[in-house]
Parts: sequence; C-alpha cells; structure tokens
Amino acid sequence: MKLTERQTDIINIVKQKEPISSRNIADKLGVSKAAIRTDLSVLTVLKILEAKPNVGYYVSNEDLTYKSLDDLKNIIVSQIMVDAVTIKEDTSIYNTVVEMFVVDVGTVFIVDQEDKLYGVVSRKDLLKMSIGKSDLKKTPVSLAMTRMPNIITLTPEEKFYRAAEKIYDNKVDSLPVINKNNKVIAKVSKTTIINTFVNFERGGIK
Ligand code: ADP
Repeated sequence: MKLTERQTDIINIVKQKEPISSRNIADKLGVSKAAIRTDLSVLTVLKILEAKPNVGYYVSNEDLTYKSLDDLKNIIVSQIMVDAVTIKEDTSIYNTVVEMFVVDVGTVFIVDQEDKLYGVVSRKDLLKMSIGKSDLKKTPVSLAMTRMPNIITLTPEEKFYRAAEKIYDNKVDSLPVINKNNKVIAKVSKTTIINTFVNFERGGIK
C-alpha cells in the first residue's frame, strides 16, 4: 500500500504546523473537513500521525519511514542470504547427520573440490537412508542427495520475492545461492524468508 498524494500533503502540513486541527488542515488543502476524515484516520492507524483531543494532529514520534509492499518486493537475495553449510560428496551419511545437529540446519549442500554445487541433502533424505540396511558410517552422502542439474538455485541479484516463490513452488526448505562459477556462496531458507518479513516490519533491512 502506498500513501496517496493528499495523505503526503497532510503529513507535510502537520510537520510544519503541529499541533494542527483537522479544520485547519482541510483549509490549507482547500477541501472540506469531511473530505480528509478517512485520510486522517488512515495516517493515525499507520501511526504516522497522532491525534490529541482538543489539541490537534501532530507527527508521531515513531520511526517515520513508511514501508510499502513494493519496498519489500524490491529486497534482493544478497540482502538477506545467510551462510550455507557445505560438505564434500565423500562425507558419510552418519557424519552428515552429526553436522546437521551441530550446526542446527535442516539442509546441507554438497560441493565438489572447487566448492561447486553438486547436491543437496535434506533431513528426510537422511531419515530415508537410516531405515534401510546401509551402514551409515560407510555410505557416502552422495547416495542420499538430490543432484545437479535437479537443484533449484538462486543468484544474489534475484528478488527476495522470487526466492519465496521458488521455495513455495518446489516444496523445498532451502535454496543455495550460487555465483557465476556455480560456487555455493550462501543460502535462503524458509526461516530466512520469515526473518525477512519480521525484520522488514521492524525496520532492520537496509
Ligand atoms: P525435508 O525433506 O527434510 O522436508 P525438503 O522439503 O527441503 O526437506 O526436501 C525435500 C526433497 O527435495 C529432498 O529429497 C531434498 O533432497 C530435495 N531438495 C531440497 N532442497 C532442494 C533444492 N534447493 N532443489 C532441489 N531439490 C531440493
């Protein structure tokens, strides 16, 4: 949601003349008091303006940066991505499970000797292996992983919103962020998406 031109005008009038009554704001705009009633209530609900009975409107002390959905949609992956956990393909399934617990993640990315993306392994992939007959200390993680080219990836320049869509459309928890050489440089997970919403609302994303 974006502020209308009139709402922006009202904010500017209040900034200059606070405290100011709704009648005086209306006079300055050359409209009736009734015509700006909805605008004033929108600005008050958004906590941009505050109204004191018998005093008038003044600009709220809260952070005035108005955040719109467009700002949220314009956030790009490089602003929100977090460190990815990577392992080599010959790591045993047992050690992969240990690593998942130690670093507290649900998805681990498998890379080759040059850190290029090779596979991805989720909690369920590992659980599936653990109900089979394999010796988990001897079986390499490459037998449990989803491999390239079937991995859904992101680049740092993509929109945050696209990351959310890819997670949603492909029903996965996490996406590796890769550079032009296919090296894993970070990840965006469902948790990252939720953190982005909360941090955005709290003004933490620059
Ligand atoms: P879990 O299976 O633990 O719920 P996911 O939903 O992320 O975790 O994984 C579901 C399946 O998708 C797994 O087989 C996993 O290997 C695969 N997978 C996970 N992330 C990706 C990805 N980014 N691209 C392609 N496949 C993935």
